[in-house]
Amino acid sequence: MAKHIFVTGGVVSSLGKGLTCASIGMLLERRGLRVRLQKLDPYLNVDPGTMSPYQHGEVYVLDDGAETDLDLGHYERFTDAPLSRDCNYTTGRIYQTVIRKEREGKYYEGKTVQVIPHVTDEIKAAIRSLATEDVDVVITEIGGTVGDIESLPFLEAIRQFSLDAGRDNVLYIHLTLVPYLKAAGEIKTKPTQHSVGALRQIGIQPDVLICRTEHPIAPDDKDKIALFCNIDRRAVIEERDKEYSIYEVPLSLVNNGLDDILVSRLSLKTNALEIGDWRELLDRVKHPDREVTIAVVGKYMKHRDAYKSVYESLDHAGIAHNARVVVRRIEAEEVERDGAASILGGIDGILVPGGFGMRGIEGKIEAIKHARVRRVPFFGICLGMQCATVEFARSVLGLDDANSTEFDQTTQNPVISLMEEQLRVRERGGTMRLGAWPSLLSPDSRAFLAYGKENIEERHRHRYEFNNSYRRAFEENGLAVTGTSPDGELVEIVELPDHPWFLAVQFHPEFKSKPTKAHPLFRDFIGAALQRREGGRVEVEAR
Ligand code: GLN
Repeated sequence: MAKHIFVTGGVVSSLGKGLTCASIGMLLERRGLRVRLQKLDPYLNVDPGTMSPYQHGEVYVLDDGAETDLDLGHYERFTDAPLSRDCNYTTGRIYQTVIRKEREGKYYEGKTVQVIPHVTDEIKAAIRSLATEDVDVVITEIGGTVGDIESLPFLEAIRQFSLDAGRDNVLYIHLTLVPYLKAAGEIKTKPTQHSVGALRQIGIQPDVLICRTEHPIAPDDKDKIALFCNIDRRAVIEERDKEYSIYEVPLSLVNNGLDDILVSRLSLKTNALEIGDWRELLDRVKHPDREVTIAVVGKYMKHRDAYKSVYESLDHAGIAHNARVVVRRIEAEEVERDGAASILGGIDGILVPGGFGMRGIEGKIEAIKHARVRRVPFFGICLGMQCATVEFARSVLGLDDANSTEFDQTTQNPVISLMEEQLRVRERGGTMRLGAWPSLLSPDSRAFLAYGKENIEERHRHRYEFNNSYRRAFEENGLAVTGTSPDGELVEIVELPDHPWFLAVQFHPEFKSKPTKAHPLFRDFIGAALQRREGGRVEVEAR
């Protein structure tokens, strides 16, 4: 029977609960256990797919097409645990099921349908759905902060869970902030005490406390936390801010003995921890011998998490080349205002990521023109690929008004247009072309060179696509289509063969990159950028 670890957070949000869960998953996996990870989010959206990146950061897409919380990205980058739709539930999704069952009229036997037990039962079923026979440990992260009204049903459900599964099979971890007060010159444990107090009021006694802190926690303070929070002193784990990289988190948890505590408290039979490759990886992160500067030109640049997986993938590609990737986040509207040449000088590679909506489009197009004409390595992702197509149509095919119908419905030259299957779609939630779809690559293309094979599968999230009526004109003028759906109908990749590295994809490769295995396209993009930096720059005239 699978054991369960529940992770809650207290005091403030943004403590890195997702990273902690991912790290715990990784440590258990590397002790030979089969783990699953799951996030329960207290908000009412059925999934984050309808939320603005300003609200929620990146929407992380899974193979099965689920649009999920970005913490699942951490889970996937740190572990090999398979992820599916069942790995992310929201209050909205739970209620959707409860209300559907009530309307069907056959589930609740005429009873009053209530938060306890009906909503909590549904939450417990969601947790149990991951605890299949082939799983040793299910790690469930509860979104939000203890004390929020909306997370109460989830906390109640995980409290009840130990009654069903047996207290010995369940472990509660609480992540808190231990702040340092400069004026007093000391760290403060009171917020942690209050947060654990709030949890205990609901009936949950945490077994392990992970204390996020900027400063070391002295033994006396640890004693105090243990005493007031009623926790074994060894299970009060200090988790200091990291100097170099989030990939340090698992190692620091090991150094503080967390994996041993989990294994002994849950009576798990495990192998010795195998983490040598991870240590090596960190060594590379800490001691790069080269550097490269990449401009990411997008729309949500002030939000740290809006292109989370893109930034992570750039880091992974850097690790693969022993290089530090310095990312310049550029608002596309800045390019519109000040011009590409002044904003993008001294840049070794330009990446235009995915996105929605009109704002900043012309700036992205200008940045892409700069990359094409000045022969700067360019990588376009989803909307970035659509913008590259529009730019080429305008500048090279001479179709001045070329556009995507997402931005101009009356253009005479809709080089990007709504996909056939999208024409009838009315609802916005969960209705894009989503999830893993296969593509076929042309031999001898840069894409083929990167992947080393013809058949690939990548994740998608889009409504618009390359308009095939223009395909010949593009190909005859030098924009090669080097990846399509297996039936040849949907364009997945375009390239400029006579450019040092100009490649754009309709899918989202950033969802499949790992620190230990950089995505081949990101790897080769950074490779080309390094070459430009180290081999001198070649400038050519515009066509
Ligand atoms: N807005 C574009 C579309 O819907 C691109 C989407 C994206 O970049 N994820 O097709």
